[in-house]
Amino acid sequence: MPSMHFGRRLGALLMCLAPLASAAGGPAVPPELSARALEMLQRSVGFRTVAGEGQVPAYAEYLAAELRAHGFAAEDITITPRGETATLVARFRGSDPTLKPILVSSHMDVVPAMREDWERDPFTAVVEDGFVYGRGALDNKFGLVTSTVALFWLRQAGFQPRRDVVIVLSGDEETTMTTTAALAQELKDAELLLNTDAGGALLGDDGKPIVYSLQAAEKTYMDFEVTTTNPGGHSSRPGATNAIYDLARIIGRLAAFRFPAKSSELTRAYFEAAGAITPAPAGPAMLRYAENPDDKDAYELLVSYPEYVGQIGTTCVATMVRGGHAPNALPQSATLGINCRVFPGESVEYVQETLTRVIDDPKAKIRLLYPAVTSDPSPLREDVMKALRKAIDLRAPGLPIVPSMSAGATDSLYFRNAGVPSYGVGGLFISAKDSFAHGLDERVPVASIDGAIVQWRSLIEELAR
Ligand SMILES: [Zn+2]
Repeated sequence: MPSMHFGRRLGALLMCLAPLASAAGGPAVPPELSARALEMLQRSVGFRTVAGEGQVPAYAEYLAAELRAHGFAAEDITITPRGETATLVARFRGSDPTLKPILVSSHMDVVPAMREDWERDPFTAVVEDGFVYGRGALDNKFGLVTSTVALFWLRQAGFQPRRDVVIVLSGDEETTMTTTAALAQELKDAELLLNTDAGGALLGDDGKPIVYSLQAAEKTYMDFEVTTTNPGGHSSRPGATNAIYDLARIIGRLAAFRFPAKSSELTRAYFEAAGAITPAPAGPAMLRYAENPDDKDAYELLVSYPEYVGQIGTTCVATMVRGGHAPNALPQSATLGINCRVFPGESVEYVQETLTRVIDDPKAKIRLLYPAVTSDPSPLREDVMKALRKAIDLRAPGLPIVPSMSAGATDSLYFRNAGVPSYGVGGLFISAKDSFAHGLDERVPVASIDGAIVQWRSLIEELAR
């Protein structure tokens, strides 16, 4: 899932600001590599790498052939079958084996797409009106291809990294992430990870970039269920208690509850940077909150925005309800589904204990539906921020860079969990109206390909030299 953190609303607000000049100052991508990237992206879309279709290994073989054709030694490329899917790890060897490697990660799988729902065949890439259309064109084959071609370019240019640069491709990011978990364990001694599947710039209606978002943290996803039970009976003989009424009271208490405000280095940096480019009243409130997270007025204003409430603390919200078994029977049980997006640093136990207290019904049962994978925010390292600044300046000098925490989840989750600082620094520059990851008519602007390659080349060169 790519994290274009800025929603349509912020995009619309920002569009009224003066656009920045976008002068491309970096080295131009050699035309044959630019053409190769477009061709690779189109061919990539043609591999139906949807869960259960068994196409990821074939896609990995295709990518391995491209890597070999562009200077990667066969023994430095490893494809590991994992169930019906696979992972690919390819190493661009550095000169100093004592240094920890830099990982560049993407995922090869895509979410399903139904032919009948799409205007065009989702698995035949079509280039039309300046866009490449197809499932996965954006999520995440654009990032995979542009970062890989940047490495081809560095090899061609004779670049010798000091650290190993390792391409890391997972095979089930969109579903179970078991391949990601395995890769994270195998590669947990890395210096850092650059994820192509998050981060990127938002374009205004005029096609000019407005802001670049760097993903450095993810909230933890947790699903809980609360169930009330009752012996039930005939509906003509209602008693004093009722599983649905009990649940309704629980829902009322939950609706009135808010988790306490939280902030971190990352969210303060986010509010500081976003506040400077967001109009009133949200912008000034962001700046005040960044300065002082105890500013109650700023907090109250920001929680009223759905796009900012998640940056201020943990959120838990009722999403599903079921109960009863017949129109003429007293309900024997009623169940509420609660989805939580948990602020990094807060544990499952803390969230469950808090919900138990809020629910305030000793007879109700609360349980976590799936084990949760927690991850700490990655520090905003000076080397990463400097390298990113330099790379972005090649495409859009002075473009504001805003660190972000996304609602999750990408492959970075497992790497952060394993202790590898991970940064979503994707090269896609796209407008909110063209962002259709997971949706119909997914597409990427052809014009963004060269810029992304320039950005990846600069970033990798800077951090691996
Ligand atoms: Zn993705």
